[in-house]
Formats: sequence, C-alpha cells, structure tokens
Amino acid sequence: MSDQGNEKQEFFVHPTSELDENVTIGKNTKIWHFSHIMKNTVIGENCNLGQNVVAGPDVCIGKGCKIQNNVSLYKGVTLEDDVFCGPSMVFTNVFNPRSHIKRMDEARPTLVKKGASLGANCTIVCGVTIGKYAFVGAGAVVTKDVPDHALVMGNPARHTGWMCECGEKVNKEMTCLACGKTISGKSTPIAFVDLAAQQQRILPQIEKNIQTVLKHGKYIMGPEVKELETKLAQFTRVRHAVTCASGTDALLMVLMAYGIGPGDAVFTTPFTFIATAEVIKLLGATPVFVDINPKTFNISVPKLESSIKEVSQAGQLKPKAIIPVDLFGLPCDYDQINQIASEYDLIVIEDAAQSFGAEYKGRMAGSLGHAGCISFFPAKPLGCYGDGGAIFTDSDEIADKLLSIRVHGKGKDKYDNIRLGLNGRMDTLQAAILLPKLEIFPWELESRRKVAKTYTELLLSEKDFLTLPEVFSGYKSVWAQYSLLATDKGTRKGIQDILEEKGIPTAVYYPTPLHLQTAFAGLGCKKGDFPVSEDCSSRIFSIPMHPYLTEKEQFRICNHIVSLLK
Ligand SMILES: *Cc1c(COP(=O)(O)O)cnc(C)c1O
Repeated sequence: MSDQGNEKQEFFVHPTSELDENVTIGKNTKIWHFSHIMKNTVIGENCNLGQNVVAGPDVCIGKGCKIQNNVSLYKGVTLEDDVFCGPSMVFTNVFNPRSHIKRMDEARPTLVKKGASLGANCTIVCGVTIGKYAFVGAGAVVTKDVPDHALVMGNPARHTGWMCECGEKVNKEMTCLACGKTISGKSTPIAFVDLAAQQQRILPQIEKNIQTVLKHGKYIMGPEVKELETKLAQFTRVRHAVTCASGTDALLMVLMAYGIGPGDAVFTTPFTFIATAEVIKLLGATPVFVDINPKTFNISVPKLESSIKEVSQAGQLKPKAIIPVDLFGLPCDYDQINQIASEYDLIVIEDAAQSFGAEYKGRMAGSLGHAGCISFFPAKPLGCYGDGGAIFTDSDEIADKLLSIRVHGKGKDKYDNIRLGLNGRMDTLQAAILLPKLEIFPWELESRRKVAKTYTELLLSEKDFLTLPEVFSGYKSVWAQYSLLATDKGTRKGIQDILEEKGIPTAVYYPTPLHLQTAFAGLGCKKGDFPVSEDCSSRIFSIPMHPYLTEKEQFRICNHIVSLLK
C-alpha cells in the first residue's frame, strides 16, 4: 500500500492502490481503488486512473489521460497526452503468446498518439500505432496502424470515417459541424495515376539502367530489349514476346503478320480506344463492330456470333479475325470466343493493352488468343517513359514474321527486304526503364487489387445509384481503370464537378463510341446501332486508380461521391 499520502503530495492515490519503486506521478493526477503502478512508470499531470488499473513496468503515460476501470498497460505501451482508454479495453503485449514459451522480452511496442480515444472493451494488438485523435469504436480489435483522425470499428477494425479533435464525425469537406475545425490535408490533389510515387521506389535502378545504356551505346536493339522480351515471355507463359514501338504498332504488326487486308472483316467493339479499330482500317480491312456486355464492358459473345453469321451470309466481306479488347484490365471470355473463332476459322488477336498482368482461368492476359498485344504507354498498368508495346504468341511462324515486319520486312539481313514492314522497334532505353518496373509489377498488381476491393467496399452502399465494376469467378482484373456507371449523364457531370473541385481527377473512357467517330463515318454506322456502348459512353466515369493510392485518399474520394448521392 502507498505510504506517500502526506500533505505535500500533489496527486491522489487511494489507499487500496500500490505504487512500486521509482514511480513518477504528475500534479493533480488521481489513482482510484485497487490499482497497481509498477516500477519506473511515469504518469503525467491531470490524469485519472480508475479502479483496477495496472501500469508498468517502464510505462509512459502523458498528461491529461483518462484510463477507465480494468485497463492494463504493460511494458511497451506508450500513451501520449490526452488519451482516453475506455473501460476494460485491452493492450496485448506479446504477438503470439504460448503459455509454455517465455516471450515477455519479445513484447512489441504500441504507441497511442495525442488525443486518441480507445472505446470500451476494444483490443489493441501489440505493435500498432494509433494516430492523433483517432477513434477506436467499442469492442473493435485493432490489428494494424490507425491513421490520424481515423474512425475504426469492428473485428478486425475497419476504417469507416474521420473524427474531429472534439470527437464528432467530420463531413465530406473534412470539416466538423460541431466545432468548425477542418482536418488538414483535405484538399491535397490526388493523382489519377501516380507515376512519381512509383519512380521514387525504383529511381536508383532506373538511373543505373539508363547509365548502362549510355555507356554501351546500343540505342537500337541493345541487350536490354532481349532481356525484357525473355522476362515478358516468362511472365505471360508464352513462347515468344516481341517488343515494339507502341501498342498500336503491336496490333498493326499482328494484323500484317496474318496477312489481313482489303475484303477482310475484323470483329471488335466500338467501346474501346481508337487504335483497336484504326489499325484494321489502315490495312484496308473492314472493322465490324459488335456491341458490348454492359456488365464487363467487353465484347458480347452472343452478339459476336450473330454478327459473324450475318457477315458470312451477306458474302461481301470474308470474316478473318476477332480483336477482343480486355477493357479496363478485365479479360474477355476467351473460352467462348476461341470456340466461336475455331468454328468460323477466325484468328483471335487479344487487345491486352490495358490488361497485362490480368488472368483468365489461371492463364495470363496476352496469352489468351492466337496473339496478344500490350502497350507500355506510361499510364497503362505497366508503362515505360515514352511509347512502347509488345506482342505475345506461341506460333514460331508468326513470331518470325513479326521480327521481320518490325524492321521494314527484312529477310536474312536488313537490306534484303522480303515484305513491307515498319520501323516498329522498341528503344533500348525504354526496355532498360521497363526492367525494374517489371520487378515490382507483381507487388503493384496485388496493390491494385486491394485498392479496387476497398473502393467496392466503400461504395457498396450506393449500389442503387452507381453500378460498380464486377469481377466474376475465374477472372482477375488488373484494374487499369476503376470505372463506374452513374444513373445518367447529368449525375455523372455532378460527381465529376464535385470531385474536381476537391482536387480529385476523374476521366471518361470513352465519351464517344468508335462507330460515331468521324474517322469511321465511311462504315455507315449511325446512332442507335450499338445501344449498350452508347448508353455506357453517356454514363461511365473512372476514378483515380494506381498501386500507390492510400486508404485515406480512397476514403476521401468515396466520401465525396457518397455525400453527393445522398
Ligand atoms: C492504349 C491502347 C492501345 C494503344 O496503345 P499505344 O501504346 O498507346 O499505341 C490500344 N488499345 C487499347 C484498348 C488501348 O487502351
């Protein structure tokens, strides 16, 4: 029992409580019944410790903390000033305790920052940091760090909102209506695609690789190009990867390798980037548009089949190939598409410009048709610092043709030209930049999938007003874009305007389907021909998506959308 209850003492300790040696207690602090403060513990001034509180040894408690009944603070726990510990809440101190193994010296430190509140009966797993003015709901189990001002609830604790210093939830502007304070950092602009964050992670390797190229001077077809091709082929699990100057060239070169030209029909969707259909037309062949499935934004398989039948019966064009586009990083249904293609003897050229890294039934995007084309445009899931692309194929014959087409249709050597080709090579410098990016790509893919999952969780409550992207079983998207459908064009505009005002960029892919573009006027299509594509064009929008997006940023983005729709 404490023997320090003399007149000079400026704190209060109930006679039923114990203070061990070398304990420091600040002015006006009160320690109530049956508590035990162990050696070398420091408690600041103006604290209130309820009944049955244990603190120590070596614990540091700041000023103005309130610790309710039945809380134990073991060695390793630190409370900054003004922390509230609700009744019977628990700090664990060993991560993986076993009764028969001594692990007390493995305790992981836990830090609770200024002003945080830990609700009644919550559990804080050791090793985490609870941010300033964060708020842990009653009964929550906190297993990871909690950002400043975050509100977390549940088991495991999930981030569900932001809290003001005064303990009220803030509104969509991150302002507290109760006290008028605003949580800082609210309007820092968010990047649509954050190439700078990625660069920061791998800058030394990129610089080293660029230096190597500057030294060896093989700017065209240097050793980095071959190395990249080998790694790309391994990643995609195909025999050949042929790099080239852009995603557009990749598509063009494949069509050339298959000898597609005037009189040939190539089936694709009008809901894609112009390059997909442009290359068909450039070669004198005819793009035949097929509408999309509104759930995936990818080519509709039943409509594809009827379109092929129609073109065959009309007899003017010869059906030759299909270019399914894995839009926004989600593969098309290739089992069905390949089945139809083999029935009608068509080539399948996968436009995987947005889907490199995606999977379909365990197979990699780029490997799902006769040939696959990808783009390394900087904003694509795997981007270089300029233009670049690659083609994948298991066919030795097509790979040979591609190598020839890539260098002006060369034969045995550069000045023996056996066909017409292009200058379609990838720069050595771009390959050198892509190599370290490919190293971290698997991690980035995981991160993209996490970001997408979080978006879907945060926006699920709005599913009557917003169509969220779905990924069906057997598919793994790379989330080149996280695209949503608003109820109508006006609502989309409203959401885009609000977000722009808050420093949050959005984009519309694609505002005009290809069949309504002037460049394709010659095809004789008109408004109404592809109603699903037209409808999606009028309502779709994409929100920031990249592997470096934080939960806090995602919460900010979704908060604005949700409050607008309410
Ligand atoms: C980006 C893209 C292309 C073209 O790639 P570039 O490298 O820009 O030439 C082709 N198709 C689709 C679907 C794309 O998104």
